[in-house]
Amino acid sequence: MSFPLPSSLSPSKVSSFKDCALAFRFSAIDKLPEPTSPAMVRGTLVHRALELLFWDEAAGHRTPAVAAEKLDQAWAEMQVDPEFVELALPVDDQTKFRDDASTLLDNYFAIEDPNAVNAIGTELYLEVDLGGVKLRGIIDRLDLTADGELIVTDYKTGKAPRAAYENGRLGGVQFYAFLCEQVLGRRPKHIQLLHLAEPVAIISTPTEQSIRGLEQRATAVWRAIERACEREDFRPKPSGLCDYCSFKAYCPAFGGDPSLVVRDAAAVPVAIPA
Ligand code: SF4
Repeated sequence: MSFPLPSSLSPSKVSSFKDCALAFRFSAIDKLPEPTSPAMVRGTLVHRALELLFWDEAAGHRTPAVAAEKLDQAWAEMQVDPEFVELALPVDDQTKFRDDASTLLDNYFAIEDPNAVNAIGTELYLEVDLGGVKLRGIIDRLDLTADGELIVTDYKTGKAPRAAYENGRLGGVQFYAFLCEQVLGRRPKHIQLLHLAEPVAIISTPTEQSIRGLEQRATAVWRAIERACEREDFRPKPSGLCDYCSFKAYCPAFGGDPSLVVRDAAAVPVAIPA
C-alpha cells in the first residue's frame, strides 16, 4: 500500500518537502493538525488590513491614519476567527498582539508609498496544471505599472530569512512568477517580498531562465514526492527548523514513531513534548 499523493503543490509545500520530507508527510499527507501561533495569526491580521487599504481606498487616500482604521476593522473581524479564538490570549497579550500588528503596518509605509501603487488585485488565487500536478498559490497583491508591466507583491510579517534560507524564499518568488505567466499570459517585471518587521524589500526580476528553472524544480520535487509516496519513504532531516516543528512527538530523530500517526485525524491533537 502506498501513501496518497497530495492534491496540489504550493510554494510552502515545495519548501516544506525540501526542508524535511517527513515533516511534509505529516502535514500534507497525514494532515496532522498544526497548532497556530500568535505570529501566524498576527500575519493574517496585517494582511487583511493591507487588503482593505488597497481594496477599499483609492490612491491618494491610503494614509497611515486610514491604515490604522483598516486595522481596527480587521481586528473586529478577527474576534470570531477560529485561529484567533484558539490562541485564547489574555487581555494584556491581546494588547501587545494588536500593538505589534500596528507597528508592522506603520513599517509598511517606510518601504513604499501605497498611493503610488496601482493595485489590480489582492489575495489572488492562481492555479495551473503542470503535467498532471496542480501548482497553486495566492498572490497578496498584483500591481500594474504605468507602462503596462505586472508587479507581484508578497507581504512577510516574520523576520527576513537568514542567508541560508533566502534562496528557498526566492524559489517561492519564482513560483509566483511562473503562476502569473501561465494564468495571466505575462511574466511579471518584478516580484517583491516586503518584509515588514525590518522593514526591508527584497526585489527579484524573473527571467525566462529562472522561470524554466522553477518549472524543472517543481516537476522534480513532484516526482520525488511520488517516489516517496510509492515507497512510503519520507525521511527526517534534522535542522534548526526542528525547534519550530509541531511533529517531534512522531519523529524518529526525537525518539518518536511515525507508524503511530493516524492519518487525516483532524480531531486528534499532536502531543508535543515539553
Ligand atoms: S522534528 Fe525535525 S526532522 Fe523531525 S519531522 Fe520535524 S523538522 Fe523533520
